[in-house]
Parts: sequence; C-alpha cells; structure tokens
Amino acid sequence: MGARNNPRQQMPRETASTGPALSGEHAEARSIAALRRQAEGCERCDLYKNATQLVFGEGPIDARVVFVGEQPGDREDLAGHPFVGPAGRVLDECLHEAGVDRSSCYLTNAVKHFKFEQRGKRRLHSRPNAGEIQSCAWWLGAELEQLRPDLVVALGATAVMTLLGRSVAVTKNRGDLIDTPAGYPVLVTIHPSYLLRIRDGSDAAAQRARFVEDLTKVAVYEAEHERRKQRRL
Ligand code: SF4
Repeated sequence: MGARNNPRQQMPRETASTGPALSGEHAEARSIAALRRQAEGCERCDLYKNATQLVFGEGPIDARVVFVGEQPGDREDLAGHPFVGPAGRVLDECLHEAGVDRSSCYLTNAVKHFKFEQRGKRRLHSRPNAGEIQSCAWWLGAELEQLRPDLVVALGATAVMTLLGRSVAVTKNRGDLIDTPAGYPVLVTIHPSYLLRIRDGSDAAAQRARFVEDLTKVAVYEAEHERRKQRRL
C-alpha cells in the first residue's frame, strides 16, 4: 500500500459510543473457519429463510484492514461470496486507484444473509432493520475479535451503525477515523453501491473521487501504523 497524503492529518479521534458489533456479546470460536461453520446454521433472525445461502466474510486471516459493508446483494447471495457484484467491482476499482491491495484485506458485511423484496422475477435490495443488524452483530463482533485488525473501514450507514452506534453518521463523519475501545479505529465512508445510484454524471464523478480520497486514508494509516511499530522494535 502506498501512502499519498500526510499521515499526521489522519490521526484517529475518540468516540464516546460503540455499536453492537463492538460492544455486545458475540459468538466464540477458535478460528474464522469455525465461526463460518457455526454461522451456516444461524437462525438468530428471519433473513436466513429466503436467502440462498450465508455470505460470510472472506480474506486473509492475518489481514490488517477489514472492510464492512451492509449485506450481500443479489449476486453475492447466488455466488456465496462478498463484494462480487456491481458494487464490489466499483470497490475494486476505487481501492486500486487509492493504492490499497484488496487481496490483502478481509471483506465482510454487517448482515450475512440477503434481504430483498420479490418483484416479479427481480429481487430488490431491502435494507436490514435495527433488530437484524443487532442479531448479526453476533457474527461480525466475533470476526473482528478473531482478526484483531489495525483498521476497520465502515462502508455505509449500516456498517457505521453496527460498529459505532447511532451517534456517528456517514453524512456528518465521512472521511473521519474514529477511535474505538476495541483498540483500532474505524474509518467512516459511503457504501460503493451509493455511487451506482447517482444519476447525474458530474455528481457521480465527484462522489467517486471523494470515495477514492477516503480509501487513500487506509494506505496512509497503514504506512504510519507500520512506521510506529518499527520505531517500537
Ligand atoms: S442475517 Fe445474520 S443473524 Fe440473521 S440469520 Fe443470517 S447470519 Fe443469522
């Protein structure tokens, strides 16, 4: 990952609250693989009933950066992997432009089953409610406990809510690095699917550039974190 901005501008700030993934109880297991096996039988909320399959987080178990999205979309539900649909492609492109290697990161979602409304043959995305987010924080909290990353990136409002609670909002805190009692900061930004919904071309380009700018903070933070670790050795 290459640092492009001044890392001193990226120091995290404290937050008084955390969301259910960082403050509540969560599943216990010896590994991410064991967690995933447990989650395959999950009935903590009703979303497992209509989804094709569980879509658990994926990436190296020694990943230093974790990206948290909202929930799997239609393509992810069918494929069984996170961020493989249109929004995942936008994320890939923007990560590349920001100098972040996706293959070194762990990608997951706040909610592990696809929630949708059936309209004819189409399955339209439906936003998970607070109860579903709370229920599925059982798994996200456990993933983060296993991974113990240097940095978590919250992609969109659902991820922000499960990680940081209701006092933080994407509109207000976008681009902020917010410290948490878990020992790592959370970077707040949009979900890449937002970029796909913008109709106005110039607005879409501006928002995309801003998203790349947000993601550049991942590379900057990682470079600074590594320097601090080396100085302590
Ligand atoms: S969405 Fe999460 S909590 Fe709900 S059934 Fe699926 S894995 Fe369990």
